[in-house]
Amino acid sequence: YQLAVAGVQSLIPYKGGKPIEELERELGLSHIVKLASNENPIGIGQKALAAIQKASADLALYPDGNGYRLKQALAAKYALDASQITLGNGSNEILELLARAFLTPKHEVIFSQHAFAVYPIVTQAVGAKAVVVPAVNYGHDLDAMLASVTEHTRLIFIANPNNPTGTLLSQADVKRFIAALPDTVICVLDEAYFEFVSGAALADSAVEAINSIDWLKLYPNLIITRTFSKAYGLAGLRVGYGLSSPQMADILNRVRQPFNNNALALAAAEAALDDIDHLQKTLQTNSQGMQQLTDGFKALGLEWIPSAGNFVSVDLKQPGQPIYEALLRKGVIVRPVGNYEMPNHLRISIGTQVENQTFLNALKDILADV
Ligand code: PMP
Repeated sequence: YQLAVAGVQSLIPYKGGKPIEELERELGLSHIVKLASNENPIGIGQKALAAIQKASADLALYPDGNGYRLKQALAAKYALDASQITLGNGSNEILELLARAFLTPKHEVIFSQHAFAVYPIVTQAVGAKAVVVPAVNYGHDLDAMLASVTEHTRLIFIANPNNPTGTLLSQADVKRFIAALPDTVICVLDEAYFEFVSGAALADSAVEAINSIDWLKLYPNLIITRTFSKAYGLAGLRVGYGLSSPQMADILNRVRQPFNNNALALAAAEAALDDIDHLQKTLQTNSQGMQQLTDGFKALGLEWIPSAGNFVSVDLKQPGQPIYEALLRKGVIVRPVGNYEMPNHLRISIGTQVENQTFLNALKDILADV
């Protein structure tokens, strides 16, 4: 194993939430509440489910390797050309394709402290150097990130909203940042939680809508990544996409595996785009759940990082790991974020009303005991 390149040896493996059945077995509990992976608590929509059933008739055939129909649907939704879209096995795969297509061990990649855990993985896996810029108030310090650009910088990852902090940058700040970058630096704007922001912006005029798609015309070095895993409830199927200049999409498609999205995933994603009711229900469940959780934190005297996503990180003012373990013993799975340098926080994905209440009751009992 010493044969692995140095960047890979120093990586911390990405740790997802444990499967529910495994935990039920381990803990001897019959009902587990999982609020650990920013999944959709109301599940997959009816239209996507029907599309999967229909597509399952043809599974002996390879899927459409170019995802023609899904790309057409996305192009229509965003008023883009299909040549600007790259489909990935989750948006994680788009991040990986970017690293494989654009990075060598000579290159540096800039991202923020407390940013999404996959950025160091894709960077170091190809031997490039990760440059981690300290955050301000748990959010990206764009000025410091810009000041970190050197002649070796090739990629910059910006998560907006960021996971696990939920912090959101203003559109003006992000645009100014991209405009200031040399055109030899690719800016990856990771908008995995985009729909939650646009939903909030529709419901509340004080919330700013995301309009990054408009910038694609201005900046050929910009790529926006989004996903069907969160608001669309298809995390298990793995569909994400990149929106960029046709030239960048062409490069990513050269390194992509030919059939990286399976047939069920392609069919479900296309149908999910058309299921406005399910998306609206999801966004409503999220905003109500966010209110419920933050009201609960307030009642417990806890502070949290205001979040624009479908999760919230709460400050326990004591190490989060033991509280995480105590919650697990009560059948509630959340996400410790010590590996994000946030040892006193736990990240809670927004669940249904009942799930949120189960979590809050468990947390209240545990905090009363310590
Ligand atoms: N970016 C961010 C910021 C995320 O939080 C996630 C999911 N945890 C992803 C990308 C990747 O999601 P997926 O691969 O399921 O599209």
